[in-house]
Amino acid sequence: MFDYHVHTNFSADSSMHMEKACQAAIAKNIQEIAFTEHLDLFYPNCDLTWNLEYDNYAKEIDTMRAKYGNQLKILKAIEVGLHPSVYQESRQFTNDNQFDFIIGSVHLADDNDLHEGYFFKDKSLQQALEIYFLTINNCVKEYTDFNVLGHLTLIKRYLHYLESHWEDVNWEDYFDIIEDTFKTLIDTSRGIELNMSGFRYNLNCSLPTLPFLQLYRDLGGEIITVGSDAHCESYVGKNIALGYDLLTEAGFQYVTTFEKRQPIFNKL
Ligand SMILES: [Zn+2]
Ligand SMILES: [Zn+2]
Repeated sequence: MFDYHVHTNFSADSSMHMEKACQAAIAKNIQEIAFTEHLDLFYPNCDLTWNLEYDNYAKEIDTMRAKYGNQLKILKAIEVGLHPSVYQESRQFTNDNQFDFIIGSVHLADDNDLHEGYFFKDKSLQQALEIYFLTINNCVKEYTDFNVLGHLTLIKRYLHYLESHWEDVNWEDYFDIIEDTFKTLIDTSRGIELNMSGFRYNLNCSLPTLPFLQLYRDLGGEIITVGSDAHCESYVGKNIALGYDLLTEAGFQYVTTFEKRQPIFNKL
C-alpha cells in the first residue's frame, strides 16, 4: 500500500515527527509514503504560516531515507494551495526545489477560507457549491504545475456552516463543471487524489465519493493516488485499503505512484 498524503511538523497544522510517521507506516505494511507538506502562500483569516522550510525538510527526508529506506520508500512531496495571487510564487518554489510528487489543492473559494466559514456568509448552499466547483475549475485551467488535484469535495467538511450535510446535496447538479475539470486534468497528463480523511471527519465517506470516481474513469482518467491526509501517527495508512476497493469498484485497474514527478501504474 502507498499513502500519498501525509503531513508532519513541517506543516503548520501538524506536530507529527517524520520519524514517527515512518515507523507507523512500516508497522502498517505501507510500502511508500509521500510527505505532502503544506504550501499555502495566500491564506486569509488565519494566524498560522503555511510556508515550507525546504532545506530542513529535505535534510530530514535524507535522514529518514538513510535510516528506513530499505523498508519504506519515502517521497519528497508537497501540497500546494492554489490561488491566483500566488501562482507565480508557488510555481517558482516547486521549480527551484526538487519534489517527487505535487498535489494541487483548493482550500479557498471567493478569496475566503472554507475552514473558518467566512466563505459561506450570505450564500445559499447551491451558490456556495457552484462557486466552489468553478473556483477549482479555474485553478486547474490556470495552474498546471501539479500532478494530482487534492481532495475534490473538501467543502463537504464545512457544510455545517449552512446547516447542511453532504448527503442532502444532489452532487450531479455540478457534474457539468466537474466533467470539464476532469477533462482538463486528463488532457494535461494530470490526475486526481482519492482522499480518505472524510472517514475521520464524521462524514463517513471519501473525498470524492464513488460517482465522481466513476465519472473520472469513464472520461478516461487513469492517474489517481490514494492518501490518508494523516496529521498524526494513528491515521498514517488509515483507510487506504478501502480506497483501493473504491477504485476497483469504479473500474480502475491501477493505482498511481510517482517518482521524480513521473507516474507509475501499480496493479490493484
Ligand atoms: Zn488540503
Ligand atoms: Zn493535506
